[in-house]
Amino acid sequence: MSRVLLNARNHVVRKYNPFTHRGVDVLKEENKVADVIAHSKGVVSEIVIGKKQNLKAKKVEKYGNFVKVRHDNGYFTLYAHLSDVCVHVGQSVSQGDVLGRMGNSGKTKQTCLHFEVRNRKDKKRNPVKYLDQDFLIKEDSKYLHYRGFICGENCWQDLVKEEEQYIGVFGYKLGGIFIETNIEDLQFRVYKNRKWSPFVSVNQEALLQEKEGIQGFQIKSNVKLLYRVHVLDSGWTDWFFSTLFYENVLEQENFIDGIQICVRKE
Ligand SMILES: [Zn+2]
Repeated sequence: MSRVLLNARNHVVRKYNPFTHRGVDVLKEENKVADVIAHSKGVVSEIVIGKKQNLKAKKVEKYGNFVKVRHDNGYFTLYAHLSDVCVHVGQSVSQGDVLGRMGNSGKTKQTCLHFEVRNRKDKKRNPVKYLDQDFLIKEDSKYLHYRGFICGENCWQDLVKEEEQYIGVFGYKLGGIFIETNIEDLQFRVYKNRKWSPFVSVNQEALLQEKEGIQGFQIKSNVKLLYRVHVLDSGWTDWFFSTLFYENVLEQENFIDGIQICVRKE
């Protein structure tokens, strides 16, 4: 059954597209109109009413009448093109509570529900899997994938996804680091020629490439990560914590040829 339409199954009329349509449009089966319900427990954070169909609408006007709900896990859901809204801002809602009625307000050629899911930073996520199911606990579990740029071979390694693995090839200077992660506050920097680079945020550009080898590496995050570096012709350092980064300044005389980062290891 639908998690967003009352007593109905979802019939998708316009799919999610990461570039052109960052929501999903649904109707009740057999293209019928339905009441729109809260996907999960939460608090109504925003509503807009009084809008009509407007095929020239831009930006937020495209939504027409809409309801936005903030959920306990920090995620938001947004329900747009409604004809009626029957909740108010600040109202607590339970899963399945009616929020309004499907309509064609805003920029839509047909009556449908435009449904969006947004993360804690209000960034749109693919909502398709949530049409029929609860927020997955997986959303909260942390992952970190990374790769190294090997100076001697002048190339990037394959992405490392396993905790036991490390980046780098012993004997070759490590020249750059790329990190992809859902740890949103993670930042890192490298030390080279007696200078630290600026911190690189994973939300901007999680890529740090140096033509020459690096001699220090540092992560900061409120999420407790462990990391260590392998020093050329020497060996692994002790483990460092991302949360104690001022105490962890690691400036080597020698070059680094390996880095290992662990998300879960205690
Ligand atoms: Zn839509």
